[in-house]
Amino acid sequence: MKYFFRSLFLSFVFTLFLFGSISAQEYAIERVEPLNWWIGMENPELQIMMYGDDIGDLSPKIDYDGVDIERVERVENDNYLFVYLHIDHTTAAGTMDISLMNNEQQELSYTYELKEREDGSASREGFNSSDVIYLITPDRFANGNPDNDEVAGYADSLDMDDDYGRHGGDIQGIINHLDYIDKMGFTAIWLNPVLENAMKEASYHGYATTDYYKVDPRFGSNELYKELSEKAEERGIKLIMDMIMNHAGSNHWWLQDPPTSDWVHYPDEYQQTNHRRTTLHDPYASDSDMKKFTNGWFVRSMPDLNQSNPLLADYMIYNSLWWIEYAGLRGIRHDTHPYAGKEFMQEWTCRIMEEYPDFNIVGEEWSVDPLVLAKWQRGSKLPTDYGSCLPSLMDFPIQTSLVNALTKEESWGTGFVNLYETLSFDYVYPNPKDLVIFADNHDMDRFYRQVNQDYDLFKMGMTYIMTMRGIPQFYYGTEILMSNEKHHDHGQIREDFPGGWSSDTKNAFSGNGLSDKKQQAQDFVKKLLNWRKDNPIIHDGKLMHYAPKHEGFYVYFRYNKKKTVMVILNKNEDATELDTDRFYERTQGFTEGTDVITGKTYSLDDMTVPGRSALILELK
Ligand code: CA
Repeated sequence: MKYFFRSLFLSFVFTLFLFGSISAQEYAIERVEPLNWWIGMENPELQIMMYGDDIGDLSPKIDYDGVDIERVERVENDNYLFVYLHIDHTTAAGTMDISLMNNEQQELSYTYELKEREDGSASREGFNSSDVIYLITPDRFANGNPDNDEVAGYADSLDMDDDYGRHGGDIQGIINHLDYIDKMGFTAIWLNPVLENAMKEASYHGYATTDYYKVDPRFGSNELYKELSEKAEERGIKLIMDMIMNHAGSNHWWLQDPPTSDWVHYPDEYQQTNHRRTTLHDPYASDSDMKKFTNGWFVRSMPDLNQSNPLLADYMIYNSLWWIEYAGLRGIRHDTHPYAGKEFMQEWTCRIMEEYPDFNIVGEEWSVDPLVLAKWQRGSKLPTDYGSCLPSLMDFPIQTSLVNALTKEESWGTGFVNLYETLSFDYVYPNPKDLVIFADNHDMDRFYRQVNQDYDLFKMGMTYIMTMRGIPQFYYGTEILMSNEKHHDHGQIREDFPGGWSSDTKNAFSGNGLSDKKQQAQDFVKKLLNWRKDNPIIHDGKLMHYAPKHEGFYVYFRYNKKKTVMVILNKNEDATELDTDRFYERTQGFTEGTDVITGKTYSLDDMTVPGRSALILELK
């Protein structure tokens, strides 16, 4: 009996050895990323991640003119190989074979394409102050293809009754309505993330990426995303991609079989970020607070990526470059910018801007203090030892002050004075006109709700955003007074745009069934946007504002040698006389101004401003 077990054990060991050695021969390549590359990139280096059974044991070999393997990085997990190539600037486009060798024997081969770049892609111009950005939550804008509402293998399926479920909106829906976006006067679109989110629930928002090289099939495909970019370009509309360097979705494919044990922070024990963004530049911050901020997870379903692992850092950088080149992007909106840490954010922004010097990236740093934002902007002279290449930031300080200005009593520090003083801090920014200004976005109450559903205040806010320095951004539906009942309810904030679904009884694209007020708001925004488009004075003109005197007015001017525009915001209930004498620096030589919205002309000598209104006067 004893002998029997021993022989059984031995044969088991032998079988294990036999199969072990056979399976070691069964190499396979499952993924190679980036999906392709291009010749003639500024940076000749490329990292290729190869993934497949046991391929870490093999040695890559490439025989292609101008392409050399610089180095091969092997990691703890032998299902990965990181191959670094040097692609000479004289290399010709074509396909090359990456052979994976076991000593002298070729085990596998992969055909990799080096494409020709499109003309002018290196000097692609990013969005700028001549643009106005339309922010769209793709699941909630328009359902252009009901066939992709449910896709096999994706657990989070269509549920239009659930605010946090998927509603079926997609890229085709946006393509179908480019005409609307164009006619409204928007010149850029920023889509909340469209990459695959194979998450069990709340996948509609897109911030839990599970594949960095694949558009979520419920939104469309990589090809359709590229088509959107091309069709937008035909109308002079720039495509901005939402990217997230800080975290991935917990169902990301590489997190099921991570390359290294340090691919994410706190892999075994969940730790949440403390959200203390100031720790990155605070001279008194403790290391533990700073570490908790950058390394803690944003939420439980989104593991925090470890960008101090150079293989991961490169993977993310080449992914960003791939999308810019592949889809012809005109900009990136970068989510939770500081959370990925200042070293990596420096490297990421600088490597992108080195490759595309005229490109634009706007970072989300949700702080209401300009000092916290300013150190992140390219060219900052603030006394921190930090050099970023980030051209633009989301102007949260102005957003908060605008709402304060419109809804709070005129007093010391509140009302218009608050907005006036926040703007005065522009001296801390190297380039205030590159900031993105907005009244609301997908993460906050709808602007109409923020101003207590007061249509006059809404119009004042829109006027400010459209005439102030910076790059305006609108959230889809704000032009038709979309509002949320419950405070901070993301599901309600990201409501379906009427007319985007064939079953809709109201249609904001055609105007059918919209209330008079909503239609008025839409016309108002449309008129302002199209006026702004043709008035470079707002894009690049100088700015001068006058101290509010607690009398319900805020007055500022956009001007250059050729033109002067006077903007007046009046919160008084009744028509109010405005003494224009103190504006003489800007009004001398002019006698009257014509309002761009109503066409009505106002005399500068005797000016009565309608109650609760905004005037945009072109001075003559
Ligand atoms: Ca759909």
